[in-house]
Amino acid sequence: PQLVSSAAIQKVIEEAYEKYKPVMDGKNASYIPYLAKADSKLYGIAVVTVDGRVFRIGDAGHPFPVESVSKIFTLADVLHKQGAESILHKIGVNATGLPFNSVLAVELNNDRLGGSPPSGNPLVNAGAIATASLVEGKTLDAKWQNVIDTASAFAGHTLRLNDNVYRSEMASNQHNQAIAMLLQSYDHLYADVSETVDLYTRECSYDVDAVDLATMGATFANGGTNPRTHHVVVDAATSAHVLAVMATAGLYNTSGEWLFKVGLPGKSGVGGGIVAVVPGRLAIGVYSPRLDAAGNSVRGQLAVQFIADALGVNIFASE
Ligand code: GLU
Repeated sequence: PQLVSSAAIQKVIEEAYEKYKPVMDGKNASYIPYLAKADSKLYGIAVVTVDGRVFRIGDAGHPFPVESVSKIFTLADVLHKQGAESILHKIGVNATGLPFNSVLAVELNNDRLGGSPPSGNPLVNAGAIATASLVEGKTLDAKWQNVIDTASAFAGHTLRLNDNVYRSEMASNQHNQAIAMLLQSYDHLYADVSETVDLYTRECSYDVDAVDLATMGATFANGGTNPRTHHVVVDAATSAHVLAVMATAGLYNTSGEWLFKVGLPGKSGVGGGIVAVVPGRLAIGVYSPRLDAAGNSVRGQLAVQFIADALGVNIFASE
């Protein structure tokens, strides 16, 4: 595919920024105390291309907790090291159609009933917790090092745990503990429950900014090689598999509507971050903490849709 000109990208992110700046719809995530307190006026957009160009506007350098966007990087690590069959059979790759932290989805999606594995897919909490239980390492700290090293390689610099977020979530993650125990009861958790929930909670608690998200997404767009550092983070097959799961389940239970409107694989997190990937070309990262009812950044979705339309990068369009 042809590379988009720098002038076109800069112009379109400026337009998207100005157009949606006044939008105040949605609310910060309220169930994690640290996120409830974030300044909900913050708004930043970044684009990174597969030839390593970086574009940014607004609060694109403002750090925020990665939350669920981290699920795609941990998935990439496990897929890369353990292969696609392991994810297909141990976790599953079908949409659940239910909220991201649904316990009901675990029950309904149960292979006891002849369906998919109970964890659903690696981008809902159950599947991400099961994916975290597959991360390699002898100790919790070794597993964590694996997770943060992979994420850092995607970003191209060392990412760090935000200790306040981690502590805030560890004190309020009873629901995720329940999901992990339920998975264990069905023999679909592959490591110790409390260690796995701790690892999953750390994974949600490292900080990124919109430029990081765009760089991390551009690494997928570039077949697993970071376009700024040229580090081969994962192979191209892994990258394509992660993008497929993002298209299926990246925007919670409104993933279908997202794919219909935007035509790009994406992943959002309740910290207000969203990343969308144009395979072979570029990625868009947006930060804006106010969320819709499903948990997706309101301005993040609007900005990505505007940019994708303006650049004509819907992957389903014939030209
Ligand atoms: N740490 C959050 C949780 O597990 C992440 C949720 C999200 O961003 O979807 O509830």
